[in-house]
Amino acid sequence: MKRNSANAAVCKGNNETMKKIIYLDNAATTPIDKEVLKAMLPFLKEKFGNPSSAHSLGQSAKDATEKARKQVASMINAEPDEIIFTSGGTEANNLALKGFQAEKIITDNIEHHAVLEVVKQTNKQVEIISVNKEGIINLNELRSSLSSESLLSIMHVNNEIGTIQPIEEIARLCKEKNAVFHTDAVQSFGKLAIDVKKQGIDMLSASGHKINGPKGIGFLYIKKNLKSMLMPLLHGGGQEQGLRSGTENVAGIVGLGKAAELSKKKMKNAGKLRKLRDYFIKKILEIPNVKLNGSPEKRIFNNANFTIKDVEGEALVLMLDQAGIACSTGSACSAIGHKSSHVLKALGFSDEDIHSSARFSLGFQNTKKEIDYTAKKVEESVIKLRRLAGK
Ligand SMILES: *Cc1c(COP(=O)(O)O)cnc(C)c1O
Repeated sequence: MKRNSANAAVCKGNNETMKKIIYLDNAATTPIDKEVLKAMLPFLKEKFGNPSSAHSLGQSAKDATEKARKQVASMINAEPDEIIFTSGGTEANNLALKGFQAEKIITDNIEHHAVLEVVKQTNKQVEIISVNKEGIINLNELRSSLSSESLLSIMHVNNEIGTIQPIEEIARLCKEKNAVFHTDAVQSFGKLAIDVKKQGIDMLSASGHKINGPKGIGFLYIKKNLKSMLMPLLHGGGQEQGLRSGTENVAGIVGLGKAAELSKKKMKNAGKLRKLRDYFIKKILEIPNVKLNGSPEKRIFNNANFTIKDVEGEALVLMLDQAGIACSTGSACSAIGHKSSHVLKALGFSDEDIHSSARFSLGFQNTKKEIDYTAKKVEESVIKLRRLAGK
């Protein structure tokens, strides 16, 4: 069988030999697809034009960005002019939450930092609603909070525990109360079917590097009739319909478009990846005193997050790294900040359980052989670490 090109994650060992990594941290970022890179390269080389230039070099860059806009829009059943390219998911969330004219923002306590830190900065009124033990938001609480003055921001899929929110129901409540609904879909775009019209989504954020595209590119979808309510964060040359000035990241945009198109094909393999993930979960749960975090059913098909009693998550991640396996405690950001997971905290976990947690996020490139090897290494590491801890 031909192996996916996206699996080319490699690292240089001390002896300069290339060692292959089993990459199970796809919620943090993904390897760029070979076809995506190939589509991008001309725009970093001979097709270097500025899309705002009148000459043919500029116009060919312009045409490429418009093609990508169509590719992205068609993924979510939006119109191309409802797509605003940004520097990534973080900027898309900032634009939606800071730029949209609303009196009040309602969100929940398991959002990505790119929502929670943004609402800390806003001068709008903010209300944070709670989630249950599986990370599903409380719809009754939401119903009583919503009003026509509110902008609601609820993520589609959580990046740490993979929980899928009932976004159709959430959108329906918003319609009833005449509120505006934004969703951070960075973890679901290119994985789950999204139809902004059918599902009633008013604004949506997504990112290139979570779908085998490049880093530093993403987009905000905004429904046509709401565009006049959105104020730009960046002022200048008036690119992106005046909503995001700055010369376009043409190669990045082209890469995002290509990655979106390719993910349509990859999504057909979701069932296969789910089976592999379920097999992995089953194997890991055979280790004594391990539990699965989040919802067993309402969960994206590539996420597994465990609490492993008497094992430091960070120690496990480092030990697995030695064995050539890349995984994570909580999210990539919590690893940088050495902050413990606000998501697991919101689920009611003790500090001890939070520090004993690890996340494995699979990609379409992973194989059963890799999963078998990983499960074996996890078990060995857990035994070693528990012994070291005297447990
Ligand atoms: C990765 C991620 C982001 C940030 O996207 P960037 O493109 O890295 O800025 C936002 N939200 C979620 C849920 C994410 O997983």
